[in-house]
Amino acid sequence: MLTRRQFIATAAALGVLPPAAVRAALASNPFTLGVASGSPRDTSVVLWTRLAPEPLNGGGMPPGDVPVRYQVWADAEARRPVREGEALALARWGHSVHLKLEGLEPGREYFYRFAVGGFETPLARTRTTSRDDRAIKLAIASCQHYETNHYAAFRDMASWTPDCVVHVGDYIYEGAPSPLGARTREMFGRTVDFSVVRQHVGPETVTLWDYRNRYALYRTDPHLQAAHAAAPWVVAMDDHEIDNNWAADVPQDPEKQTPLEFRVRRLAALQAYYEHFPLEHPPLALGTDSSLQMYGRWRFGPALLHLLDTRQFRSDQVCGDGFPGAPACAAMEDPARSLLGPAQEAWLAESLTRSDAAYNVIASQVWFSPLRYNAPPAAPELNMDSWDGYGPARRRLLDVLGRGVAEPVFISGDWHCAAAMTVHEDPLDATTRTLAHEFAGTSIATPCPWAHRVTEARSHNPHVRYVNGDRRGYARFVVEPRQFTAQFRVVEAPQDPASRVATDLEIRTRDF
Ligand code: FE
Ligand code: CA
Repeated sequence: MLTRRQFIATAAALGVLPPAAVRAALASNPFTLGVASGSPRDTSVVLWTRLAPEPLNGGGMPPGDVPVRYQVWADAEARRPVREGEALALARWGHSVHLKLEGLEPGREYFYRFAVGGFETPLARTRTTSRDDRAIKLAIASCQHYETNHYAAFRDMASWTPDCVVHVGDYIYEGAPSPLGARTREMFGRTVDFSVVRQHVGPETVTLWDYRNRYALYRTDPHLQAAHAAAPWVVAMDDHEIDNNWAADVPQDPEKQTPLEFRVRRLAALQAYYEHFPLEHPPLALGTDSSLQMYGRWRFGPALLHLLDTRQFRSDQVCGDGFPGAPACAAMEDPARSLLGPAQEAWLAESLTRSDAAYNVIASQVWFSPLRYNAPPAAPELNMDSWDGYGPARRRLLDVLGRGVAEPVFISGDWHCAAAMTVHEDPLDATTRTLAHEFAGTSIATPCPWAHRVTEARSHNPHVRYVNGDRRGYARFVVEPRQFTAQFRVVEAPQDPASRVATDLEIRTRDF
């Protein structure tokens, strides 16, 4: 396995591009993808940009690394300089810059920009963390299919200036372009209206080239750029960053791709993912074995956030592909099956047990709470891709929470459906003790053709306090020492990038 140092040595071997070659490459603005910051800590944050004068054509940079200037200020007027220097845009990583700024002060804003060859980025905001922050603002985003709607939700999120944005996946979708315009489809027993308002470019993503171009396409959206420029993000992928409903080494459609083809595809997808986010660590690869560190822990004032990776280490889904729910079967009760993998599961249990935070926030790609689609007492029909398909693993985490973890709050995405739920000792029996709350954010842009099935299922799921799969948007949270407030934001006209965005519901954990 290559170490980080060997990776850097490999990159360095390509050498820095000579100034004349840099000038030739930078005939047009290379900052087409904006900037980003992420992985905020008390004294550090990672700043990101990527040079891509031709964003949809592999980036358009020649081989060789390029020095990029950065400047950091303590104020939004760029009057009080804090730091400046040069960072390398590495050809090895698609000419992305990952600059870890260290030695910062806890709990304060910083403003930064990059410049190269006469071009510069707009001034962007980031913020360090502090356990002493009195109140913190977190937003959760997921599922932003580029073709089906615009990103007014991100415009609204940027204007709220969160302390951190948590993205739990489906940042891109892997599919080939769909025809523009409105059409209908028969899905789940009803006619669903769709509209394709803008198109993917290029085929279904398989190669590094494809994935780079797909991230670049999404990142050219001005509202998505604005949300990255407004706050640091912490990110973990779900399934569509590689392929629908993949699990560890297993694609959803093994008849269409061999295990080796899927492993090579996964390697490309992990590399492109790293190239487009301010992550602390690059992916590791040995042959076609690859992994990327995405799960992690961040302390924001009264909240300790655990961001989970429920995709990379999971056991394969069981009980068939029934959608939105499949009948429970014996295989899902196998205690050897895991959603987090043994190392992450042990890390989470230990960290939660030792936490002294007032609120223990657990960000999961998929819903932790159950949702049964049929009436009891029949065996429940459940979404086998979510924690519902991994009962023993869910019970192990509930056992940890039941041993005295303060105010656990799950936040999740994936299902394109907003929900506020209580999590019970026996998750499918709402008369048992409440151990946690869950707030699921709806999708930023992707439709939810099964929304009516969720609405119809509501009476079978008394732990569900609120549910709305009909609207696009996101959820945001204000965490104070004695209060956890959630706001479900909904986009009024998701096909209009200028749409108004409003609060559908504001609710506190103590309200239910
Ligand atoms: Fe999705
Ligand atoms: Ca998903």
